[in-house]
Amino acid sequence: MSRFDVIIIGAGTWGSSTAWQLAERGHKVLAIDAFTPPHAHGSHAGATRLARQSNSTGPEYVELTQRAFAAWKSIAERTGIDVMTTTGNVFVGAPGSKWFDNTLENLKASPFEHEIFTGDEARARFPRVRIEDGELAVWEPKGAVSLVQPSIHAMQQLGCEEGVEVRYGEKVLDWSADDNGVVVTTAAGRYEADRLVVTVGAFSNSVLGLDFPTRVERQVLANFAIDPAAPQLPSLYVAAPAGDDSAPSYGCPEPDGTFKVSVPGKGNIIDPESLSQDVTQADLDRVLSFVRSRLPEAKGDPVATTVCMWTESEDGHWLIGRHPTHERVVLGAGCNGRGFRYAPVIGSILADMTEGTDHPELARFDLGRYELNSTRV
Ligand SMILES: Cc1cc2nc3c(=O)[nH]c(=O)nc-3n(C[C@H](O)[C@H](O)[C@H](O)COP(=O)(O)OP(=O)(O)OC[C@H]3O[C@@H](n4cnc5c(N)ncnc54)[C@H](O)[C@@H]3O)c2cc1C
Repeated sequence: MSRFDVIIIGAGTWGSSTAWQLAERGHKVLAIDAFTPPHAHGSHAGATRLARQSNSTGPEYVELTQRAFAAWKSIAERTGIDVMTTTGNVFVGAPGSKWFDNTLENLKASPFEHEIFTGDEARARFPRVRIEDGELAVWEPKGAVSLVQPSIHAMQQLGCEEGVEVRYGEKVLDWSADDNGVVVTTAAGRYEADRLVVTVGAFSNSVLGLDFPTRVERQVLANFAIDPAAPQLPSLYVAAPAGDDSAPSYGCPEPDGTFKVSVPGKGNIIDPESLSQDVTQADLDRVLSFVRSRLPEAKGDPVATTVCMWTESEDGHWLIGRHPTHERVVLGAGCNGRGFRYAPVIGSILADMTEGTDHPELARFDLGRYELNSTRV
């Protein structure tokens, strides 16, 4: 049995990025996944993810956003794979809405290009979106849509060129770590390494043996037929009204010409092992109510649906750091519905930490903010 420098458990969005970047730095890397990414069993199901430059959460995301956009550009140039489409992004809402106000405030304090439209001006600029009186429309011309499968394939291709070994379709059943290294066990084998990175998304608590205060939420994405002859719709967020703390509803154009829409549901907690692609009438009613009120041209029922799950941390920020009882184990979890566009940067941070370089400037994401109990001693 050959020994690796690093084993990655979970070779999805963040894991494929980390594997490639560690291999590029000269490490012998093994990436293991229960399925063959990209797939529909985790947090990257579906064709697209929105990649806007604004954020509702805080200034620490500005530099990460700049790095992420530059990294995706470089990935596309190196692999020849189109990983993003620039669609522009518009977010709509009324002042007083918490998400809208935070997002606009952060955007104004950032270097990102944007324009604010009001009333008739907004309706003339975005004629395919219904904008109510009293709402503003904020336009980000560099807003983009990440193409999920090409992005993951591109990171896999870079990893493959750098010598990453992969074991797909091998669910990790157990791992252990001690002063000599780590041992990972799957149904098909037993693998040894000096260090371990765990990027298993929604499955983090069970695989890590930790009790992060996170919720795994089931989310439904629905695709609607839209006018193929009309000028392209941008990606779109619509804030909940003032006094309603719900996440914004959002959508974006997809490569097949449809428009994807999601109305994030809070509290739809699931066991990640039980994810099914079945949708209920209640799922459809939520999304139809949004579409009928905001995208009047999308008249029919959805032409396709995807069920996915994201992991929401208590404070809305990622969990990045070392396992509290195992120094050799680095982990990245808690995607909070915004982790895709940052994958190249998160991979680089996890690679740094695996090599022993911590990032005190990223304290917002540090595990130390939670008192964690570990079942792995
Ligand atoms: C509905 C929805 C909408 C989203 N919208 C956006 C958006 O607009 N913009 C954005 O930037 N982000 C968005 N996100 C978030 C983004 O998709 C995630 O942040 C990203 O895909 C998370 O990557 P991950 O690596 O944590 O998880 P994943 O990509 O799911 O990878 C985890 C991997 O671990 C593997 N695994 C799990 N358990 C085991 C085991 N025991 N053994 C081996 N392998 C295992 C899984 O098979 C999987 O491949 C959205 C997410 C969802 C669900």
